[in-house]
Amino acid sequence: MTVAKDISELGHLTRLGPNWPGKRCLAKTRKGTPCQRPAFKHNGRCSLHGGLSTGAKTTDGLKRISDASLKHGMYTKDKLEAQRHAAQVGRKVIGKLKKIVKTLENKS
Ligand SMILES: [Zn+2]
Repeated sequence: MTVAKDISELGHLTRLGPNWPGKRCLAKTRKGTPCQRPAFKHNGRCSLHGGLSTGAKTTDGLKRISDASLKHGMYTKDKLEAQRHAAQVGRKVIGKLKKIVKTLENKS
């Protein structure tokens, strides 16, 4: 039994118990109490409360994200605009052809 007690005393000073001297996260938890997890040095919050990334801000970063998420480019703004333009031109051509056919039918 004494062996188990000795093992339980190992690392007692470095455990994150109530008397741990390190810096705590102290973010407000869903329970309403301050978070007791150890805080990171760079932001003072734990891994749960560090907050999500706000994303890329620079144009280079935004372009990198856009390139990474682009799969085939069939539905980019440029392609969709080109498709709309081609459809509009096609409708105009079909309309003119129908007019020509009607005039030819009327003449004969
Ligand atoms: Zn926390």
